[in-house]
Amino acid sequence: MGLDAPSEEDMYKCVHCGFCLQACPTYLETGLETESPRGRIALMKAVNEGRIGITPSVTRHWDLCIQCRACEVACPSGVPYGKLIESTMSQVNSRREKSWTTKIVSNIILKRIIPHRNRLLLIIKFLRLYQLTGIQKVLRNSGLLNLLSPYLSELEKSAPQVPATILETSGQTIRAIGVKRSRVALLSGCIMPLVNGPEMEAVIRVLTRNGCDVIVTQNQVCCGAINSHMGDLQTTRKLAKRNIDAFLNSDVDAVIVASAGCGIRMKEYGDLLRNDTAYASKAQTLSSLVKDIHEFLAELPIIPPKGHLNYQVTYQDSCHLSHAQRITEPPRMLLRSIPGIKLIEMDNPSKCCGAGGTYTITERDFSLRLLDSKIKDIDKTQASIVATANPGCVIQLQYGIKINCHNRTVKYVTDLLDESYSSESTV
Ligand code: SF4
Ligand code: SF4
Repeated sequence: MGLDAPSEEDMYKCVHCGFCLQACPTYLETGLETESPRGRIALMKAVNEGRIGITPSVTRHWDLCIQCRACEVACPSGVPYGKLIESTMSQVNSRREKSWTTKIVSNIILKRIIPHRNRLLLIIKFLRLYQLTGIQKVLRNSGLLNLLSPYLSELEKSAPQVPATILETSGQTIRAIGVKRSRVALLSGCIMPLVNGPEMEAVIRVLTRNGCDVIVTQNQVCCGAINSHMGDLQTTRKLAKRNIDAFLNSDVDAVIVASAGCGIRMKEYGDLLRNDTAYASKAQTLSSLVKDIHEFLAELPIIPPKGHLNYQVTYQDSCHLSHAQRITEPPRMLLRSIPGIKLIEMDNPSKCCGAGGTYTITERDFSLRLLDSKIKDIDKTQASIVATANPGCVIQLQYGIKINCHNRTVKYVTDLLDESYSSESTV
């Protein structure tokens, strides 16, 4: 019902052929029709036709969907599954009785913390203090957290280490090195500038080294990807409008996004705001300016780095880059452009690692099952570095490697480019 009702036209494009089943990580894990795209669409149709209601047992199957969109790529009928599950979750979100974890995530973290940089900064500073002062060590060694809640204790262990460097978003411009080829704005994101400050600075260095003036646009906010994942499209629209106002004032050739999940959210602002008379056209304009960093560098084209890196690297496709944005070759091409890097493909590189939005928090057990299977595929490559393109995947893979005691590191593709550029002077 309402503005965000799943489109009947999209829903009935599904002809139940089942080609998508083998692409779906939750189906592969369970073997159950109800945990497959076809099964989930059948449930949407059944609700739409009034044969069943939106009951907890029905919503359970939609909740277990990671929203990885692998089924979209496999579907010969062009079913826009991502759009369908997003709008289905918005219907569920407004009706159901929420568990305490979902309430904390959707009502507090996503609405009251993430959209407000100062509040988020406060929490991140607290987390850094907790990690640096030894409180974390004491809590872990005492087993107190585990006693209180094994779930929280396990979740705490997967939290990323907060660095000292924070990327400022004050509208600063970082000038191109050498001949100027482009002027771009950078989406800093909500959590990335705080927990991935050094990696965001690496992104800026790679862009400037490739002749781009980079503006870290002021007044930008979270892209809204996590809110839409949870079915809160109202908050997503508010955030989208604030970003449109911020970025369209920047007068740039492109808006660069270094996080796959944020990239697809912004590329789909046009569709999100299609019924908004004041913003529909502006949303289309912003969406058309958005470029994933790998896509952008490949098209520019990149100035090949010369610094030699003697690494064996395997690449994990982030779902929202490979399935949603259909970008698979550019990151691999960029990795191959680095002298000395040997790219070893893992089995199933585009199978989800289990990170997916808030999935690691709300569906912890399932998320860890998928992570386990991913770590086994990575292990077979014996690569020392796992490269990827999305902060959620980085955190998830780092955790998988940590609990399996593997001697590997997880890096963004842009980290490796930056490292190669930085070592050029020594070549
Ligand atoms: S492949 Fe497409 S049409 Fe076939 S069952 Fe899956 S979603 Fe439906
Ligand atoms: S989005 Fe991913 S988990 Fe959800 S039905 Fe499609 S393939 Fe399965």
